Amino acid sequence: MGKVLIIGAGGVGSVVTHKCAQLPEVFSEITLASRTIEKCDKIAATLPRPIKTARVDADNVAETSELIRKVSPDLVVNVALPYQDLTLMDACLEAGVHYLDTANYESPEEAVFSYKWQWPYDERFKSAGLMALLGSGFDPGVTNVFCAYALKHHFDEIHYIDIMDCNAGSHGHPFATNFNPEINIREVSARGKFWEEGNWKETDPLSVHKPFDFPEIGEREMYLMYHEEMESLINHMPGLKRIRFWMTFGQEYLTHLRVLRNVGMTRIDPVRFQGCDIVPLQFLKALLPDPASLAANYKGKTNIGCMIEGVKEGKRRRYYVYNVCNHEQAYREVGSQAISYTTGVPAMIGAKMIVTGQWSGKGVFNMEQFDPDPFMADLNRYGLPWTELFLE
Ligand code: NDP
Repeated sequence: MGKVLIIGAGGVGSVVTHKCAQLPEVFSEITLASRTIEKCDKIAATLPRPIKTARVDADNVAETSELIRKVSPDLVVNVALPYQDLTLMDACLEAGVHYLDTANYESPEEAVFSYKWQWPYDERFKSAGLMALLGSGFDPGVTNVFCAYALKHHFDEIHYIDIMDCNAGSHGHPFATNFNPEINIREVSARGKFWEEGNWKETDPLSVHKPFDFPEIGEREMYLMYHEEMESLINHMPGLKRIRFWMTFGQEYLTHLRVLRNVGMTRIDPVRFQGCDIVPLQFLKALLPDPASLAANYKGKTNIGCMIEGVKEGKRRRYYVYNVCNHEQAYREVGSQAISYTTGVPAMIGAKMIVTGQWSGKGVFNMEQFDPDPFMADLNRYGLPWTELFLE
């Protein structure tokens, strides 16, 4: 029986809270805290059992550690924004509680995607006897676990990994983002990057692309991007020669993005306007639909998986493992679209791994460092069933 404090009452926070509430035998007590307490209360009103709610500014370490001490949870689940990762890790260390998140730290001033700020917390978590689990969403998260599962059961050595993320859903808006617009646009506008033979290679944003026939969806154009799970997987997949990350985008989305970028609306530096400083991307976020509001009319499916090549007993093997998630089904179950769902369910499962002690350790960890089997079993049990195909 565990007590959990979830911080962030957005699209993902809503799903994690719903999924934890569905498991009273694991999460005996749930507190949902966020900057706007009304959002927590709104989510609480839709749950099958009562939870506690609180207001917190997660940028403020003293305020957050005071809340953590008051709630006294076994674990803090950070589903606020990547900007809060470091302050929340600091607050967990101060209050003596385990930590979990779904996205690497980002500084508001600079769109750099890296674990270089969070990994150095390892010593502090170790000496406090605490665990921090990084990136327990879908990608990163499940994709790391897919790779660990492949290595454990199907390969002696993995040489090539292609992580492929396809959202073939349609929400009826000409342009909207599926999760926090600011974070999403920063990620998509970044230069592409992949790792090959020990070196990182850069590409212009969205300049490398190719079609792929996604099971249950069909052919879609996917674009090479940088994604943070590659940074940890290159450390934990011995023999790896190349890893790439691909995401699909429709032409409508890409055209909007190009125009917004060309006119300067995706800039993250402040611009002086009528006597005040505004950050164009933050202003754009205020104009775009709230990702959670897309859920009611979202139709179609997502398919996220890993294409893995390597050797088993001297023979070449090509293996594909993926999950298909249906936007309408996610909405029927928890009132959310599939992007929030595919992030929130793994966050709940990661929390379950820690609270039940199935995954334990002292220090800072990425997902592929633990036994993938109980996590893979829970994906099937809690709404994200996976399929594996042996292609060669
Ligand atoms: P939202 O913008 O919908 O929600 C973020 C929530 O955090 C909001 O409720 C917001 O409060 C709250 N928040 C922001 N700043 C603070 C603060 N200083 N103190 C307290 N609360 C704060 O984002 P999403 O739910 O779409 O995304 C949540 C996280 O999930 C992000 O880190 C995102 O990067 C990650 N993610 C990970 C994925 C994966 O597969 N690994 C995929 C998709 C998302 P308010 O409402 O007041 O603004």
